[in-house]
Amino acid sequence: MLTDANIIATNISKGNYLFNPANRLRFDNELAAKSNEGGYRIIVFNSACNVVNDSNKTDIGKTYLIPEVINTLTKKDNTGLRRNERVIYAAASILNTASDKIGAVLVVSSADEIYSAIEEIEHKLFILIIVTCILLVVLVFFISQLIIEPLKKILRVIEKMSMGYLNQRIDIKSHDEFFELAKAFNAMTEKLEQVDKTRGEFVSNVSHELKTPLSAIKVLSESMLTQDSIPQEIYKEFLSDINSEIDRMTNIVNDLLTLVKLDQNHKAINVSRFSLNKMLENIVKRLNPLAIKKQIHLEFSCDGEYEIDGDEMKLTLAISNLVDNGIKYTAVSGNVLVKLTADNQNYYITVADNGIGINEAEQSKIFDRFYRTDKTRDRETGGTGLGLAITRSAIMLHNGNIDVKSDNGTTFIVTLPQIIRRTEIL
Ligand code: ADP
Repeated sequence: MLTDANIIATNISKGNYLFNPANRLRFDNELAAKSNEGGYRIIVFNSACNVVNDSNKTDIGKTYLIPEVINTLTKKDNTGLRRNERVIYAAASILNTASDKIGAVLVVSSADEIYSAIEEIEHKLFILIIVTCILLVVLVFFISQLIIEPLKKILRVIEKMSMGYLNQRIDIKSHDEFFELAKAFNAMTEKLEQVDKTRGEFVSNVSHELKTPLSAIKVLSESMLTQDSIPQEIYKEFLSDINSEIDRMTNIVNDLLTLVKLDQNHKAINVSRFSLNKMLENIVKRLNPLAIKKQIHLEFSCDGEYEIDGDEMKLTLAISNLVDNGIKYTAVSGNVLVKLTADNQNYYITVADNGIGINEAEQSKIFDRFYRTDKTRDRETGGTGLGLAITRSAIMLHNGNIDVKSDNGTTFIVTLPQIIRRTEIL
């Protein structure tokens, strides 16, 4: 449009249309032809902004201060958009031969099409924004559900567990962090359930173990009460039976207290440096009267002098139980050998007997609380079934290990690391 305006301005200048009234007809015709050709209105201004000619013929003689016209007269040719009137203006100056601005040509074209296109785009954009917003809201909702749902699941399980239902598991199928969390959580609940089960079993075992001597005492005392004139010897015998049942209960309670202390009070371990040789010699010396009673040969041997940082009392208890068992479960005239050896990492204490032995299926169970093998369950050995559990706890406190082998008697092998990390003990 600006090019057209320039061409028209050049023609006006060349034809001297502005100042020569004789050329008026040609001027009018030319404007009409150009206006038809371009499909727009052409208005010609003089330098005072008066309308000199108009292809529409409606505004000739009027004065309009149109910014584009003023601009072209004072500065340079320009164009402008009028959104309200939906038109485009293009203004070019008319120059004389001396290049002075003597007027201006304003080409006015309808911008309906452009504005319709813009409006359509705006409309579509508006719909697009609304749809995008809705989609975004839906997406955010679903993503938050994806995160919140597993959290809710976990929360529900935790709530149930805190109510005491420990058999809860989280079921998460995805393979993300929630899955890992659920896996760790399930492992933890399994452990909790196990602890709960063990505790239940332990309580029932304790009750059972205490019930047996209690029933015996009850039967003995009732029979004494209900029978008149019982000979004194029978009285004495019954009372001595009651007395040994009470001793048995006392042993069980004492062993239980020791176990509880070992289990709960990891910090109560009293670490000092002491000689393992001396400790074992003392144990053998102390238990030898029991061995002599059964004509059992009890002997200690070692391949060197060894010292260890540990709790002497607890280790003494642990090994005493092993030696005591060796004597208990070996027939008259048997052997119980205690041996101390070492390599460059560990000390090894072996307690070997040639007694009744333990069959393979039972070897893994003898360290359980109250477990007694089939061979010894009925025998009156006075055992509580807690000795080996105590031994294992004490050895574990020293970061050690206990193994059992049975082949022509029984051999317990206690492994104690030479350097016990203090953090593990304390
Ligand atoms: P207890 O007080 O019955 O001896 P322990 O916990 O010390 O309890 O031992 C558990 C069981 O392991 C014993 O009842 C016995 O059946 C078996 N046992 C332990 N040591 C020996 C051994 N040296 N020889 C044969 N059986 C053994």
